[in-house]
Amino acid sequence: MVQHLISPKRVAVQWLASIAALGIPFVRIGGESLLRLDAPTRTLLFFGARIRIDEFYLFLLAILIIVFGFLFITMVFGRVWCGWLCPQSTLTDLAEYLDRRIGALLGTGKAATAVRHGAYLALAGVTAANLVWYFIAPHEFFMRLARGEIGPVAGITLLAVVLLVYGDLAFVRRAICRTVCPYGRIQLATTDRNTLTLEFDRSRAACCIRCGSCVNACPTGIDIRNGLQVECINCGRCLDACRVVMGERGEPGLIRYTFGRSEEGGGRPLNVRSALMASVVMVLAGLLVTGTLTRREASLSVRRAGEGEVRRLPDGAAIAFFSAYLENRSMVTSSFDLHVEVPLRGRAELLGPVTAIVVPPNENRRVDFLVKLMPAPATELMVTVVLTRGGERITAADVRFPVY
Ligand code: SF4
Ligand code: SF4
Repeated sequence: MVQHLISPKRVAVQWLASIAALGIPFVRIGGESLLRLDAPTRTLLFFGARIRIDEFYLFLLAILIIVFGFLFITMVFGRVWCGWLCPQSTLTDLAEYLDRRIGALLGTGKAATAVRHGAYLALAGVTAANLVWYFIAPHEFFMRLARGEIGPVAGITLLAVVLLVYGDLAFVRRAICRTVCPYGRIQLATTDRNTLTLEFDRSRAACCIRCGSCVNACPTGIDIRNGLQVECINCGRCLDACRVVMGERGEPGLIRYTFGRSEEGGGRPLNVRSALMASVVMVLAGLLVTGTLTRREASLSVRRAGEGEVRRLPDGAAIAFFSAYLENRSMVTSSFDLHVEVPLRGRAELLGPVTAIVVPPNENRRVDFLVKLMPAPATELMVTVVLTRGGERITAADVRFPVY
């Protein structure tokens, strides 16, 4: 009897996820990384957009999308992340595969042990470098590594991750999933009677030959015949093991994926709770896209300079000193101009290097200038400094013009 196995699909998903994780830092769009947190400029490079860390609301939205997205996936698909996508599971699967290959080639002697530990170290090195590539672009990373100029923060991060991953693969592995990983505990709060689970078909319990293959195949060492347990990571290995055993007898397997428990009538993955959670994720994603597309391409703040004193000129005008701080958030070098607007009649002008202010992408400029009001105001008033580019108003900042 032909039995469809889950493992090839799971391995394919793990390969695709690993290739994506390794490859994304190498993908560039408009000369910049597709996805990277650029530490020196505190900027998230996100699919062509540059989001400054001080654009906090966008960062917050991105984090909330990840959190609610995870909750939604867990609510519908249980611990499918753990079994199918989690880097810890993938690395452990890979280490177990290497163990088998090295064991088959070299047996169990000292040479085999040395090769195994060398392989764990190589895996740890690639994992650590891959993590750092999300902060330092790979080409720069390799250049700095070759020159021995990787820097203390990246160097310590690399070393720490190498040691952690090596220790994990050499000594810990799946014990992490069973003990310290918080995600397994969080799922208790999010799963419900509609969530995807592995289930032993009790209506055919008499067909079970008690071969123990499902238990032996389970990476977390549980017996799915005892019902759903928190340690289950939805990997489907028990299902495959049973399908193989029962297939040899010409019968279908006794373990299956199911939404909810069949004994309770099954579950509906699309229900009010999951729809609500999906709506939250979609609203947040909409807000993030809108916020990213409509955000200003430059920022401006203006402060009084020095002591902030005002001077009266012989012609009856008043001048005050200010400093403007402007930042080019676009991806191209831009030339900006500053203008002033006042709510009173009379003349206002800016004196200083306020035109053709060239700012490279993602850089700041400070511009010192004078505001001249004619005639001098009798009381304090707000003036508006306007930032334009090619005549187009980009943003503005209000500042108080003091009284003489
Ligand atoms: S019970 Fe089955 S699906 Fe759950 S962790 Fe064990 S082998 Fe994987
Ligand atoms: S693999 Fe299938 S037949 Fe064997 S013990 Fe598990 S459930 Fe029973």
